[in-house]
Amino acid sequence: MPDIYGIAAEFRRQLLDHDRAVARELIDYYGGVYRRLQQQTDSLMRQIADARERGEEVSPAWLYRAERLRLLQDQVQAEMQRFADYAGDQITEAQRAAVEMGQQHAEQLALAGLGEPPPGVIVTWARLPRDAVTDLVGFLHDGSPLRDLLDELGPEASRAVRDALVAGVATGQNPRVIARQIRQALGGNLVRALRISRTEILRSYREASHRSYQANDDIMEGWIWHSAKDRRTCMSCIAMHGTKHRLDERLDDHVSGRCTAIPLTKSWEEILGSKGRDIQETRPQIELGADWFARQPEDVQRAMMGPAKYAAWKSGAFDLEDLVGRTRDPRWGTMRHERSLRDILGEQAGQYLDPVRRAAVEKAAATRAAGLAAAGRRAPEQAEARVRRPRSPSP
Ligand SMILES: [Zn+2]
Repeated sequence: MPDIYGIAAEFRRQLLDHDRAVARELIDYYGGVYRRLQQQTDSLMRQIADARERGEEVSPAWLYRAERLRLLQDQVQAEMQRFADYAGDQITEAQRAAVEMGQQHAEQLALAGLGEPPPGVIVTWARLPRDAVTDLVGFLHDGSPLRDLLDELGPEASRAVRDALVAGVATGQNPRVIARQIRQALGGNLVRALRISRTEILRSYREASHRSYQANDDIMEGWIWHSAKDRRTCMSCIAMHGTKHRLDERLDDHVSGRCTAIPLTKSWEEILGSKGRDIQETRPQIELGADWFARQPEDVQRAMMGPAKYAAWKSGAFDLEDLVGRTRDPRWGTMRHERSLRDILGEQAGQYLDPVRRAAVEKAAATRAAGLAAAGRRAPEQAEARVRRPRSPSP
């Protein structure tokens, strides 16, 4: 049977699969929108090219004349509105599934964390009433409706397309260049929609499992920060790994973070009172990230921290937890990040950063010299000429 970390990793995979499936749907749909708008744009670009060929002056006024600009803008807006409708339905549906998933996963993780109950003890898990999670579907973090945000896509795309067109025509750009700028303006909207979708799906999931834990505070003590703990994990998440948190705290790692909250259940004594006193502890024990990091080989430590931070840490200039930075955003709440050496040490950072920079410059120079030497073996005269150049800046 997999342990609680294995289960947590599997749940995380399921959640991300769910997000990816929604993203694929949105991208597919957007593909259709995009192709239809592309035809409209192409036809307008042909008109511009033809008019220029006839010697007409293609100016912003030309665009406004005969409603050329407005027609395209109307089409963009209509297509984007259809996309927003579609995206709104898809995201809401996905949020509903994520809320369900979050609650189920919370229950299974908590029970796995609790371990086998002693004989005669039945642990019951309270399910959340339906209206305890309704605000997690169709609403954004700040409580405003999801649709409001998606509805901004249409007018925004239409404005962006107009700006690209007017600026392109006014400066006499090639229609191909203008078309490319319009494509970019439209592509930005898909990126935004995907970001909204992902953020909101993950939030619904996290919040549902969070509330689920809170509703079971007779069993739950809090949660433990669990990072991926591999070479790609940032040092802030390593420092947070294994730390214990209360039920009312949120796991506030950074955007595209890979950390999860492992439920920390109460001890059997806390749950059962004196009856539970002699029952062996079954809760998972998590080694602190700081301790884990301390026993990694030197090359791993240096690779994960980077050479300057490594040198500073080795000399005792800071502790691992000093690497955890926290920012507060009025819309998204708090978020953690890895602090820079300069942020931690101020002026003092220079003594660690400068040698590293010097070494990098020297290494680059050595690589260049090695390359020239290799080239020299092939064509001695040319290589010599190249080697000389840097020494005599004025030819
Ligand atoms: Zn991180």
